[in-house]
Amino acid sequence: MSIIVKIFDMKTTSIVMAQTTIEWTEATWNPSTGCNKVSTGCKHCYAETMARRLKAMGAPGYENGFEFMLMPERLDMPLKIRRPTKFFVNSMSDLFHEQMPFEFLDRVFEVIRRTPQHSYQVLTKREEIMADYFKHRRAPDNVWLGVSVENAQYKKRMEVLRAVDARIRFLSIEPLLGPLGELDLSGIHWVIVGGESGPRARPMSPSWAIEVQRQCDAQGVAFFFKQWGAWGADGVRRSKKANGRILLGQEWNEEPVLMAGKSRP
Ligand code: SF4
Repeated sequence: MSIIVKIFDMKTTSIVMAQTTIEWTEATWNPSTGCNKVSTGCKHCYAETMARRLKAMGAPGYENGFEFMLMPERLDMPLKIRRPTKFFVNSMSDLFHEQMPFEFLDRVFEVIRRTPQHSYQVLTKREEIMADYFKHRRAPDNVWLGVSVENAQYKKRMEVLRAVDARIRFLSIEPLLGPLGELDLSGIHWVIVGGESGPRARPMSPSWAIEVQRQCDAQGVAFFFKQWGAWGADGVRRSKKANGRILLGQEWNEEPVLMAGKSRP
């Protein structure tokens, strides 16, 4: 029985905690910072560029630039916020990084458990470590677990994600770097698609994005089109803002939502 329905985005326009410009979330929480590259989607990592800037500005947590660091002093941040908020966990790192101790992850997920008013979106390119962590632990109901799928080679991450018991599972197909072909979206509740931005961005063909949207539609999966990025639908390079986020004549802001009263067995 599915506990997920599709709705159109109800994100408010006046978010008090406007800490992020990421279209599909409301705020970010980074209990660790820093990372290293694991696949082709990492090539122009936004977090790495930001970390270098923050280091130059002397920001706490970025003393070593993009080197992985635990930030225990940030653990209690969501506990101080009463207003229900959707957090993207680790916009500046990967929560399942090889250097992340499971004991520290236990502390992160304990905070998540203690703040049921919030939702937490956890996205990783280290799906095997995520699966290993949850082998003997239950993901809290307010966690959304996701993996990145930047090209067909990384569709294999979906299989690992599907095997993890989570209330919401999602795919971040961003940057979309090639055609994905046929997608088995069973057990997946949400798909985000976007093109790459930045000075060395790689273009996204409209046909690749449309192919994903059509399969989400056919399989009843919520679809969110984040942006074209540096290259517009017409193949022309412009600012990310000028290229916008219209696909097939409309914005796609669908999100998965839980029906009241439903929970996992
Ligand atoms: S896994 Fe994410 S944060 Fe880490 S290098 Fe790759 S894109 Fe950047």
